[in-house]
Amino acid sequence: VRVSGRDAVAVASRVFRPASPSRSLDSLSGYTAAYGHVTDEEGDIDECVALVFRAPHSYTGEDVVEVSCHGGPYLLSRVLRALFAAGARPAGPGEFTRRAFLNGRVDLSRAEAVMDVIGAQGEQAARAALRQLNGGASAFIRDAQQRLTDLLAGVAAALDYPEEIEEAEAAGSVIAGARALRDTLLSACDERAARLLDTGFEAALCGRPNVGKSSLLNALLCEERAIVTDIPGTTRDVVRGSILVAGLRVNLSDTAGIREQAETVEAIGVQRAREIMRAADLVLLVLDGSQPLTAEDEELLRETESYPRLILCNKADRGAAFELPGALRISAATGEGMDALRQELARRAGMPCELPLTSERHMRLARAAAQHLQTAADALENGQPLDLAAIDLHAALDCLGEVTGDRVDEKLLDSVFSRFCVGK
Ligand code: GDP
Repeated sequence: VRVSGRDAVAVASRVFRPASPSRSLDSLSGYTAAYGHVTDEEGDIDECVALVFRAPHSYTGEDVVEVSCHGGPYLLSRVLRALFAAGARPAGPGEFTRRAFLNGRVDLSRAEAVMDVIGAQGEQAARAALRQLNGGASAFIRDAQQRLTDLLAGVAAALDYPEEIEEAEAAGSVIAGARALRDTLLSACDERAARLLDTGFEAALCGRPNVGKSSLLNALLCEERAIVTDIPGTTRDVVRGSILVAGLRVNLSDTAGIREQAETVEAIGVQRAREIMRAADLVLLVLDGSQPLTAEDEELLRETESYPRLILCNKADRGAAFELPGALRISAATGEGMDALRQELARRAGMPCELPLTSERHMRLARAAAQHLQTAADALENGQPLDLAAIDLHAALDCLGEVTGDRVDEKLLDSVFSRFCVGK
């Protein structure tokens, strides 16, 4: 349980009874712990260790007391109640991190990274979030802000000293600078990485009915989630599941078996299957490798040719009726070839993810800043005066300021921190 604020130590002292009377919380310096009990008017609630942080050397930058007790929902709620009675109030979502931001401990992009670290769905997402927490986006944005401030300084100088600085010359260098910065901002947005880190890599299983798609999904998920039957066309809806491959989340969807002349309900499923195939990062085309290819298989092979795809010849345990270059031979029933399939998924889903901006909010602001830079450069090129272009340069600077939080309002803070859970 964490208590933060000017009165944190005083409030916590009211509920903390140190085992040794000389270890009262008020007497402790920062980074020091005391052992004792949390108490209320009814007596001791739990044994605990209280750790004191003194401002500004704490997570929030304020005085902080952290009480470690045995936990358990009942005891915890009593500890909280005792603290509320002693003068504390419940923290809002992300309030500790919000205070850290308001007290200048972290900039906004790093505060957001705290949330991403907590919510990371796999090792790669966690690593990317840690990179942000260590200042990945903020270093990049600060550099862009510096370049923009330099451009604005050039504009101001040209406006202030018209007899010394030729306006056309100043405009020329602002145009070049604004265009270069626009390109830098746009090429820093890693849309694919952002999506993969956030929601994962989409792999769609497709193939005619009864080739073993549901069995394969089950084998990959190591659990019985899809319905497996030997009556063709029983997977009418889309079944989804996620696995972690090489630290990245891979979302698998088992689509309805694609079959011409399907009855109506199934036909809707077939249409959904086609939509999912089109949107997928990878189409896993499943064939029954133990039987000769059917006309439907041939049609699907043609249909998926232009998609990123991997052909899987399933039922390898029953022998091979044909060979296809580049296809993987697997058996959902025996597990043969599943390691190779996982490796191939890892290879296809793999991403370098070295670009600085991977948060949707940061990318939106970077794109908006780039747009303002473009407008400024175009205006100057069309012979508009420098002070008019300066308005757009300032607007670009404002956008960048919203990334780091140099320029924020309550609404923005509310929307960023509402994603947090209470207690972070
Ligand atoms: P779907 O319609 O493509 O989803 O196919 P299912 O997963 O429902 O499988 C159809 C039938 O093929 C079932 O009877 C499965 O047990 C069988 N099957 C699936 N994979 C294999 C395999 O690798 N080897 C063998 N021998 N049978 C399999």
